[in-house]
Amino acid sequence: MNKFYVTTAIDYVNDTIHLGHAFQKIAADVLARYYRITLGKDNVFFLTGTDEYGQKAEKAAKEQDISPSEFVKKISDSDQKEQDSLNISYDRFIRTTDSNHAEVVKEIWNRIKKNGDIYSGEYQGSYCEGCEAYYTKEDLIEGKCHIHPTLKIKIIKEENYFFKWSKYKDFLIEHINNNPDFIFPKHGAKEMLKFAKNIKDIPISRSNFTWGISVPNDLKQVVYVWFDALINYLTGVGFLKNKELFSKFWPADVHILGKDNLRWHALLWPAMLKSAGIGLPKTILVNGFLNINEQKISKSVGNVIRPSEWTKKYGADAVRYYLLRYTNIIDDSDISEEKLLQAYNADLANGLGNLIARVAKLCERVTLKSSPTPTLSQDYKQGIENFKFNEVLEIVWSRIKVLDQQINSSEPWKVTDQKKLTQILQSSVNGIVSVANELKPFLPNTSEKIEEQFKGPKIISEKPLFPRI
Ligand SMILES: [Zn+2]
Repeated sequence: MNKFYVTTAIDYVNDTIHLGHAFQKIAADVLARYYRITLGKDNVFFLTGTDEYGQKAEKAAKEQDISPSEFVKKISDSDQKEQDSLNISYDRFIRTTDSNHAEVVKEIWNRIKKNGDIYSGEYQGSYCEGCEAYYTKEDLIEGKCHIHPTLKIKIIKEENYFFKWSKYKDFLIEHINNNPDFIFPKHGAKEMLKFAKNIKDIPISRSNFTWGISVPNDLKQVVYVWFDALINYLTGVGFLKNKELFSKFWPADVHILGKDNLRWHALLWPAMLKSAGIGLPKTILVNGFLNINEQKISKSVGNVIRPSEWTKKYGADAVRYYLLRYTNIIDDSDISEEKLLQAYNADLANGLGNLIARVAKLCERVTLKSSPTPTLSQDYKQGIENFKFNEVLEIVWSRIKVLDQQINSSEPWKVTDQKKLTQILQSSVNGIVSVANELKPFLPNTSEKIEEQFKGPKIISEKPLFPRI
């Protein structure tokens, strides 16, 4: 592998993102930062952003009595600020209202049409406005959407354009079967194979509202929001606009998305790409949901927490650390501020912070050589490349523990022989520099501070990295 292109879901702008959305951005950020180390900065592209068209955004704007474009800009700006508060190192923050995106969507539409896969027809059936998705009877539980059980399912009847999704049924099944890395985790692949058998053509335009990208040569219809949103992964990396960038980074290496979006990414998106004659992404990584205090995060429960609320109190690195270490990306996980605080004090203030402070203080008595350039171990690399971020952090923290024990057993504060003292501390500092290197993708600010402090030859005490709270 010589390049790495990672994307997150682009968040829908009905409201500012919360911790549940942010978790996925942190995971993508770890991958981007890791591959920048192993492949070089110029060989990584990290895309995130906001999904801004559709009926839900139009409605929300109306409720606030402002134009849709004003409304979506407000939310998009605030989403971006939330991501910045977590130190997410995206290369582009795309908005589907960006001017060049409409051009790309029209080009893809035309290609798919030219391939004979778009036809006009009448759609009559169920539609969940929460998901902005068409559902069949089998998709609904007692007539309700499983994600939005309080919303009324609309029965809509519209003249639409349809995409011949069903034409790609066999292709999709074969692709999933032949590419075990295509959907991660594996049970996602199983679920998609089951769904693929029943794929039917779907409408890819809407005609009863106007907030969307116009269908080429039919101003009465706007492109269905999912069809438009998926295409952001092409726009974001220069399709049509920057040939060099696009051919360097496409196909995407990892699309990360929530489990509620899997169907669109694993089945609709590949069919669209195949029809348009464009290569398929390599891996679709499905993340589980976060619950707070064992409750689903939701406005109506009143437990929505914005990332910045936590980063202001604890710092970006502490929030990143807690979420990456004490959840795993695949399964649903339960989080709480109490547990964050525990992790902060035990692992960051005591574990890491304490080691750094102790060794720095002892080092004031000696002059050290600069540490050898650290390398990343195989278990560390494999862990990140297989998305096992919690396990990788466990490995790093076990190294921190070993370094701590070495200090305890060699008791450098009792050593009077300067040569022996230098030897002991040199070994500790080498270990710390190596840990700082391993922390780079996870705790970028902390890693930088440690590297700076332990550069030598003169090492001095600094303020604690994580003051106890
Ligand atoms: Zn829904």
